[in-house]
Amino acid sequence: LTFADLPLAQPLQDALAEAGYTTPTPIQAQSIPLLLEGRDLLGMAQTGTGKTASFVLPLLHRMAQNPCPAPKGGARVLVLAPTRELVSQIADGFETFGRHLPFTVTTIFGGVSPMHQINALKNGVDVIVAAPGRLLDLVTQGECDLSQLEALVLDEADQMLDMGFAKPIERIVAALPKTRHTILLSATMPKSIATLAESLLNNPANVEI
Ligand code: AMP
Repeated sequence: LTFADLPLAQPLQDALAEAGYTTPTPIQAQSIPLLLEGRDLLGMAQTGTGKTASFVLPLLHRMAQNPCPAPKGGARVLVLAPTRELVSQIADGFETFGRHLPFTVTTIFGGVSPMHQINALKNGVDVIVAAPGRLLDLVTQGECDLSQLEALVLDEADQMLDMGFAKPIERIVAALPKTRHTILLSATMPKSIATLAESLLNNPANVEI
């Protein structure tokens, strides 16, 4: 199986070739077809397995197939991740694979002034990649409207729970539409993650690598 065998839009195929990606990793080969069909996904995967592209590519594909303006003050896709470093890496992935698509991505995390983040949200963006604490602040302050969201990803969900983000995640999810595409990735599958998955995912496919 090569990326060319997957039904990804040509702008994504071009970006993959330019990035030197030819063969999907196991998690990509399993997840991408399921996500292109719109299935919710519960994935157990470690860092270094190619898990980022496994959700970035199908989400970009679905946005490319259904072009619509980013909702004002909000976003079409939200990715939650535990650390500023991971947030930046995921945003880089969207930029790398989305380079031939007209789409916008913004990062939101604490430890820096929120001014730039608030300004970036004013006109709406296609994708927000965020750490839960700062994002919840912006939602609570009315600076970020997630009511039009189409897709939610929780990356390294076990890390987020270990860092005490269970409550912020719960509050963010309460601000999202009930009907949406949801993806949960975790390196480990303790009871707390199973419970979170149960509450967030609708008939998910399970992928374990
Ligand atoms: P991740 O697990 O998403 O952090 O990815 C680990 C590393 O593998 C990153 O540097 C990616 O750029 C790279 N990578 C992911 N998928 C592929 C692929 N199919 N072909 C080549 N490199 C890849």
